This record gives sequence, C-alpha cells and structure tokens, in this order.
Amino acid sequence: MKSYEGPGVVVGFDADVCQHAAMCVRGLPRVFDTGARPWIQPANATVAEVVSQVEMCSSGALSVQVTDGSDGQP
Ligand code: SF4
Repeated sequence: MKSYEGPGVVVGFDADVCQHAAMCVRGLPRVFDTGARPWIQPANATVAEVVSQVEMCSSGALSVQVTDGSDGQP
C-alpha cells in the first residue's frame, strides 16, 4: 500500500488489488495519471472530487483519508 498526500487528503493505493480498469484515470485524469510521477496527485482537485472518485474504485484498491477536518463532501 502506497500513500499520496495532498492538501486535506491522503489517498492510499494497493497495486495488488487494482483491477486496472482505469475508472479513476478516466474519471479524474488531473489526479490519476499513469503518465505522471507520482501517478496520483491529490493536489490537482478538491478534497470532495478526490473522495468522490476514490469511492467509485471498483476493486477497493483506492482508499482515502480526509485530513482537513471536513466530511469530504461538496
Ligand atoms: S479505479 Fe481502482 S481498480 Fe480501477 S484502475 Fe483505479 S485504482 Fe485500479
């Protein structure tokens, strides 16, 4: 499990669980970009956008922790 920190949010990613369906890459390409390093850049979207996209991960490979004290909702 790797962690990617942005303002107000930390995204976790477990490569062993990922199904590589690219839903995250299509849904929020500013944050999930396999051509960028690191490939997850939470700073490129709002906390709510990141939380919403992580919740759509079909495999559970992505997880998110909100660290700004909000509920992560828009
Ligand atoms: S949405 Fe989840 S399962 Fe799909 S590519 Fe992204 S991390 Fe992997």
